[in-house]
Amino acid sequence: MCKLNSNYLVILVITFLLVSCKKSSETTNANADKDKELIQKALEIHSRVLTLDTHADTPLRMIQPGFDLSEKHDPKETGSKVDYPRMKEGGLDGIFFATFVAQDIRDDDGHGRAKNLCLQMIDSIITSTKRNADEVGLALNPDDAYSLEKQGKRAIYIGIENGYPVGNDISNVGLYFEKGVRYITLVHSANNDLADSATDPNGPEHDGLSDFGSEVVKEMNRLGIMVDVSHGSDSLFYDAISVSKAPIIASHSNARVVTKHDRNMSDEMLKLMAENGGVVQLTMLADYLRQAPPNKERDSAVAALRANMKPFGQMTLEEQTAARKAFEELNTKYPAPPATLKHVGDHIDHIVKVAGIDHVGIGCDFDGGGGIEGVFDASEVMNITIELVRRGYTEEEIEKIWGGNLIRVFKEVQEVAKKIQAEETT
Ligand SMILES: [Zn+2]
Repeated sequence: MCKLNSNYLVILVITFLLVSCKKSSETTNANADKDKELIQKALEIHSRVLTLDTHADTPLRMIQPGFDLSEKHDPKETGSKVDYPRMKEGGLDGIFFATFVAQDIRDDDGHGRAKNLCLQMIDSIITSTKRNADEVGLALNPDDAYSLEKQGKRAIYIGIENGYPVGNDISNVGLYFEKGVRYITLVHSANNDLADSATDPNGPEHDGLSDFGSEVVKEMNRLGIMVDVSHGSDSLFYDAISVSKAPIIASHSNARVVTKHDRNMSDEMLKLMAENGGVVQLTMLADYLRQAPPNKERDSAVAALRANMKPFGQMTLEEQTAARKAFEELNTKYPAPPATLKHVGDHIDHIVKVAGIDHVGIGCDFDGGGGIEGVFDASEVMNITIELVRRGYTEEEIEKIWGGNLIRVFKEVQEVAKKIQAEETT
């Protein structure tokens, strides 16, 4: 090959490289523009639809002296994931604050303490909504969420996580309803007098709902309180579906086929939830969203840490901070892969495929272990909407996921209550 030809070849190659570089940077720019457009579209949808999160354990913090929801907290320093400024930042229109009472001794003393703690948390929610009446409002009925949204205020609903504070006195259900409670999670991580948990180390005790638990469900139906089966055993789910005259909810649960966990729901359960007309609210808890690879060292370190620890709900704020720090240190030593928005999208896609678009919602479980990469706290919930838009969900579908479905169930629960009460008076 002569010199001239070789120079010519070099020029050709350089020209080709320049053109293809320009083309690839044009493609990158076009992709970036497209992504910007998609994010903008998602944020607009997020601000238009009602965004309702059905599960946060924030009341445990609210009863601690000095904790004020009207102030913005540093999540890194305090571990707090929800306050009114961050709800506003994240475009979160409404939330169910769940008064979580950890399972303890099932005798009169234990039940009495649980009831007092539950009432204390309910009062703290009501006081906070009154003190911040220009920012938020106590919501009692489905439409309250929409009317508060129109006024530019956050809707604060009340739920109870764990039926333990009902004790074995059915009249407590009416007392909680009067205070504003609109769902009760029948059981938590250990069995109680109402029902079996999915995670009690001693296994089932009632084979689902106890006789008293069935009475409680019927009383909830009569009053218009949503029946929540999250944390319950599979048998409890089937019992609740058959006993309840109204559709039921899972306020914070995921899909078991996507992530194997006893707390998650099987496809059979998801299908039945659709037949029942109920709704499964997807939760942002890493262990329920993704399968961490087995790590024996980590598992035994977690077990050792847990063995010397009180239940989280029974800790003081200082003890909670120390526990959180100990877990953070453990996570740094034995890192587990993070749960991400991809996992959130995969669970939602699966529930939609099995149960349909009308039976899925969001219950983040902030301040109760919820919070993942991309949805760390209430200020980041718009990222869920961005993920949904990326996956091709329409505004109408996103509106259902972010609150429409839950509100539909809530309305049906109230309709059933009206009917039962009308029958009683005739
Ligand atoms: Zn929970």
